[in-house]
Amino acid sequence: MNRYNIIVNRLFRGLLICFLLIISVIAVKAQIVIKNYSRFNGVMQYKTKDLLILRKMERNAHLLYLAVDPQTLNTLLISAAEGKVIPMSAAVVQDHFNGTPYFNAIAAAGKQSIALQNAGITHGFPKEKGITLTIDLCPSHKSLDRIIFTQLMTEFKKIEQPVPIALSITGRWMLTHADDLNWLKELIRSKQINVTWVDHSYNHHFSPASPLRTNFLLEPGTDMNFEILGTELTMLQHGLLPSVFFRFPGLVSDQQVVDKVLAYGIIPVGSDAWLAKGQQPSAGSIVLIHGNGNEPVGVADFIKLLKSKSPAIMGKQWLMYDLTESVGNEFGQ
Ligand SMILES: [Zn+2]
Repeated sequence: MNRYNIIVNRLFRGLLICFLLIISVIAVKAQIVIKNYSRFNGVMQYKTKDLLILRKMERNAHLLYLAVDPQTLNTLLISAAEGKVIPMSAAVVQDHFNGTPYFNAIAAAGKQSIALQNAGITHGFPKEKGITLTIDLCPSHKSLDRIIFTQLMTEFKKIEQPVPIALSITGRWMLTHADDLNWLKELIRSKQINVTWVDHSYNHHFSPASPLRTNFLLEPGTDMNFEILGTELTMLQHGLLPSVFFRFPGLVSDQQVVDKVLAYGIIPVGSDAWLAKGQQPSAGSIVLIHGNGNEPVGVADFIKLLKSKSPAIMGKQWLMYDLTESVGNEFGQ
């Protein structure tokens, strides 16, 4: 090899290393680095409000909190520098916020937990002319059913923009659907939809051979701490803000697992209208469909429902309601 070739070769290798470095920096940047994500009990005085702190974490070496406004049930991320945090035990926090819509909803969800299926809040504010749509994104090899979203945007154009939707998301779905997630984020950024992100567990284990009492999150050996916090952390790493809601995989739970979820400060949400099971929605229903490619019947039923309501939508007599707002209204004083 002559000298010229050696120089070209070295130059090429140098460029290749630079290129790989740039790619890896971009890849790291795409995912937000969060450390020490954990539960926290306390109150933060923020602006004119008293917020309840649910989690704490470090992002870029800054201390951050995930807080909930107990009056509206809205969550927000706040840096430690933005308010004064007073750590308290869970019992003292509950006393402090007793009677707020948030704790009323927690109490109601705790009481509706005895059955093996459909624990928690199953219906929104009944006076609403319309429904609250929840779409479950359980782990799947199939693509997102984008038609649900495009059809919603078409029907509600100029009537309700952005369209409020609750997406129950799993950690595993997020790991394998980067394109779909970016597509949803673009719809949010362009204010076409507004998403309440609901924790639907990380792994969403399901065994076709097991009875319900040992299936889904009731499977022996389930690590609930990881199923709850691992999903929230993955949401935050992808730039999604966790809400105060949790949907049980398969809508399956028992009192013990409901109490565990409630102890994390999050509220189980069931459904009174799982369309693929033939349940018909009424005013204020929390409707359930799957958007992960595995329930074409539910998607078709929903599109049919939307089309049948088209004149009512035009007359603003049938609207989509935000899950947080709907539950907040239902449990307001
Ligand atoms: Zn699911």
